[in-house]
Amino acid sequence: MDFMNDTQRALQARARELAQGEFAPTAAATDASEAYPWENVTRLREAGFMGMTIPTAYGGKGASYHDAVVVIEEMAKACATMGRIAVEANMGAIGAIMAYGSESQKRLAAGCVLAGDKPAICISEPGAGSAASEMTTRADRRGDGYVINGRKYWITGGGVSRLHLVFARVFDGGVEQGIGGFIVVRDGDSPAGLVVGERIPAMGVRGIPETYLRFADLAVPASALVVPPKGLAKGFGSLMNAYNAQRVGAGTVALGIAQGAFEEALAYAGKREQFGRPIAEFQGVQWMLADMSVQLEAARLMLHRAARCKGAFPDMTEAAQAKILAAETANRVANDALQIFGSSGYSRHLALERHVRDARMFTIAGGTAQILRTQVAASLLGRKLPQTRVGYAELAERDASRAGAAK
Ligand SMILES: Cc1cc2nc3c(=O)[nH]c(=O)nc-3n(C[C@H](O)[C@H](O)[C@H](O)COP(=O)(O)OP(=O)(O)OC[C@H]3O[C@@H](n4cnc5c(N)ncnc54)[C@H](O)[C@@H]3O)c2cc1C
Repeated sequence: MDFMNDTQRALQARARELAQGEFAPTAAATDASEAYPWENVTRLREAGFMGMTIPTAYGGKGASYHDAVVVIEEMAKACATMGRIAVEANMGAIGAIMAYGSESQKRLAAGCVLAGDKPAICISEPGAGSAASEMTTRADRRGDGYVINGRKYWITGGGVSRLHLVFARVFDGGVEQGIGGFIVVRDGDSPAGLVVGERIPAMGVRGIPETYLRFADLAVPASALVVPPKGLAKGFGSLMNAYNAQRVGAGTVALGIAQGAFEEALAYAGKREQFGRPIAEFQGVQWMLADMSVQLEAARLMLHRAARCKGAFPDMTEAAQAKILAAETANRVANDALQIFGSSGYSRHLALERHVRDARMFTIAGGTAQILRTQVAASLLGRKLPQTRVGYAELAERDASRAGAAK
């Protein structure tokens, strides 16, 4: 049971053939070299898996997020780096621009991705991770454009991406308008004012650089602002809606990594003999394999449910629930797969230790497992939970007035 139709099964077969034929053989080298796999990205583009969710009117395939999820799992199973590239070439920044952008913004963004670009989404800052809305990067209106100043960190694709969706506090005449997203295109070293900073040495999925980005009086035209339909004040909320798709995509990469690790462990358990029998004949190992399969199937069902969205983007709660389960499943399953390999799994000769490192990021990046639980709880309780400075201040005020009334 996976909610797939026949067309999607054919898509899955095509994606699997490409991923296993081209990307699995180079996955270890991509991890070791930490180099962006440009040649594989070209293969991905030629296969039509970059920008597949872009509407046909803009040159894409008009594929659904559910179709993309089917492809992403296959990519990630072969090579986690290629899985993440497939996410960012179909969800995240490109999804936001195709939903909220102007006609010219859509054409520009679609052109970049269909030519093989993996866009970067630039939200996090050293002082604003989970508390993303506390970002300090600002865009000041100057004449018929904006000037952006600030610093971002952990930007996936820093130094390799062309298209950037940069989130900043927008000021007009010195008055804050809320948070907006700006399209910034980097070709070579341009534009002046966008500085790609130091690469952050990451634990896993090492084929994509994560870097600091600095904006030093970066001038952009007013037409670079991706204006959400409800107006700028609600811009961040609208733009973050697009992030629900990115979360489903990230969860799917986690699932693909874990599925790959599971299949390796299953095969090994049938071959490795101890005490004169294959280790798969021991109930302790059998139950580990059974538990791994249960968790994988559950995560897949939740991801597919979220991806089969009726609206423009997956539902926030379904996306958060699916990402929590998929990310935590990936960590458990990759670890258990390594356990089944014993000392061989711990060795760097095999891929198991890489799978464990690759899986680790998914309870952190794109909304931590704790923050996503808070979102799920807020939706269950039907109210916004006091996670912000204002929220806690309001709570303290309420408690103080209750204490006063009780006296
Ligand atoms: C591999 C990787 C790639 C990334 N790519 C990008 C990218 O492309 N673009 C981008 O903008 N960002 C990116 N990020 C940043 C990512 O989104 C942040 O790491 C994430 O939002 C968490 O922020 P933080 O790391 O600053 O942790 P913090 O917010 O400092 O959190 C630290 C710990 O405190 C917990 N915590 C914080 N607040 C609460 C709360 N209210 N309740 C309970 N627990 C809480 C967290 O769950 C976490 O365990 C990436 C990160 C990684 C690791």
